[in-house]
Amino acid sequence: MAKLKILEFPDPRLRKKAVPVAAVDDALRQLIDDMFETMYDAPGIGLAATQVDVHRRLLVADVSAEKDDPYVLINPEIVARDGLEVSEEGCLSVPGYYEEVERAEHVRVNYLDRNGAAIEADFDGLLAVCVQHEIDHLDGRLFVDYLSEAKRQRIRKRLQKDRRLQIQETAVVL
Ligand code: ZN
Repeated sequence: MAKLKILEFPDPRLRKKAVPVAAVDDALRQLIDDMFETMYDAPGIGLAATQVDVHRRLLVADVSAEKDDPYVLINPEIVARDGLEVSEEGCLSVPGYYEEVERAEHVRVNYLDRNGAAIEADFDGLLAVCVQHEIDHLDGRLFVDYLSEAKRQRIRKRLQKDRRLQIQETAVVL
């Protein structure tokens, strides 16, 4: 297992649209295991392959308190939506920011599991929010896209400044 580097906004690679996974094989399962390790370590409740610079349609999630209810969604497709819900979201690629986003309350999703089996499942609550957020990543969309342009620019400037500071601190340590 290996921890992967998470891309951060406004990295342009977060804007790439992921292509469908062609084969669910051992190499893909290795990537899935690495994504879980990266997500749990961060810590986060969901991670899309796009965030670790792999542009294939794959996401992992675990919204349980005990971190013992992992979901793997390969080639996920939302086939039905119902209701509207506003909740506060954060993102491992936009560290330190939490904003309210409106999404469907329930979604029905078709996907393949880690063994390549076709699944149709209904998600609601936090898992529904998480799955919609992660599928957005696969389409190159971030939760900050739902905010005003002014707010998004503020977050972008702040994160770029934070990263410059980090680079300076590293330079001092070296
Ligand atoms: Zn995210």
